[in-house]
Amino acid sequence: MVHDPHKMSDLQERLHLIRDDNSDICGVIAIHSTALGPAAGGCRLWHYASDQNMIEDAVRLARGMSYKNALAGLPFGGGKAVLRKPDEPFDRTALFRLFGRSVEELQGEYITAEDVGTGISDMRTVRQQTYYVAGLEQHGGRAGGDPSPWTSLGVFEAMKIAARIRFGSDLKGLRVAVQGVGNVGAGLCRLLHRAGAKLIIADIDTEKAAALAEELGAHHLNVDEILRVDAEIFAPCALGAVLNEKTIPTLRVGLICGAANNQLATEADGEALMQRAISYAPDYVVNAGGIINVAAEYLGESDDQVENRVLQIGNRLARILQIAADEHTPPHVVADRMAQQIIAERRMAAAS
Ligand code: NAD
Repeated sequence: MVHDPHKMSDLQERLHLIRDDNSDICGVIAIHSTALGPAAGGCRLWHYASDQNMIEDAVRLARGMSYKNALAGLPFGGGKAVLRKPDEPFDRTALFRLFGRSVEELQGEYITAEDVGTGISDMRTVRQQTYYVAGLEQHGGRAGGDPSPWTSLGVFEAMKIAARIRFGSDLKGLRVAVQGVGNVGAGLCRLLHRAGAKLIIADIDTEKAAALAEELGAHHLNVDEILRVDAEIFAPCALGAVLNEKTIPTLRVGLICGAANNQLATEADGEALMQRAISYAPDYVVNAGGIINVAAEYLGESDDQVENRVLQIGNRLARILQIAADEHTPPHVVADRMAQQIIAERRMAAAS
């Protein structure tokens, strides 16, 4: 997804505002599309300068979830909840109870889970108020628990295929620069290490990066250097908008494939990568492992079913990269178009 602030016209369905008369708690649930099923997407708790910023973020993220879920072949539409983090200390349990009641009011139109700033214990609080929540603990062989390992696996599978297309080789011996070695980035590094890639890593948490570098024999750089390093592959696994007019001219890689959401700062940045002959694996295509796991948990599916779906990410990416090459179009444009087509076809089928 592109990081541009999207207009309200992006919202295809509705906004549900969350307010508490007795505190300054506020938030919003944005439902972008329910054409493919209930709108699924996590709940973010973040600081916002204004209600308008909060709403725009929710709408942009909800659209991203529609596209991600559609391309992952999930029976879910797209939605997102955003809660405005109060500046003062606040009652976290009360916040997530209120949020849970708001989710319940939508009667299954929206299904929530964790996102930036929220965790399993918050979702447990939400679960006391509503059934429409996933991202809880795993039970037996059923899907559930931390989605990050699945996201790491999906990015790894995507990278394998993209490297084959871009460099005509497997990952063995290729230099991969990983920005951010948190839950997903560290898991990806371990898979890459096993595949024989040469790792170069950076994280603002230098102790964490140093420990992982030691474990895997990786090269450890500071965060500014990682964007300029000479490597075959760059894997953004930290922030959004990392591919922008400042960073793109400095990149010295042939392929970008990573987990971070909203990597492109603007549409033009996707075009700029193409002009520089840098292959770009669209973020929401390759990082769908987490939502695949969350969806499976909600549907009561097994880990095996999750694995089957996650392993399909590589082939989906290959198709997108092939169409992009044939049409000389940036891959993110092809991915958006494919997702829009899936949603539009389902809408038309439902209307006829
Ligand atoms: P995380 O918070 O565990 O890890 C992020 C890491 O990035 C942290 O170690 C942090 O210190 C580091 N970081 C932050 N700013 C940095 C910078 N400027 N340079 C280098 N490192 C920096 O998060 P995560 O769950 O690993 O997710 C990583 C990215 O993938 C996020 O953008 C997230 O939205 C996206 N994503 C995650 C999942 C999932 O299943 N967790 C699914 C889809 C997308």
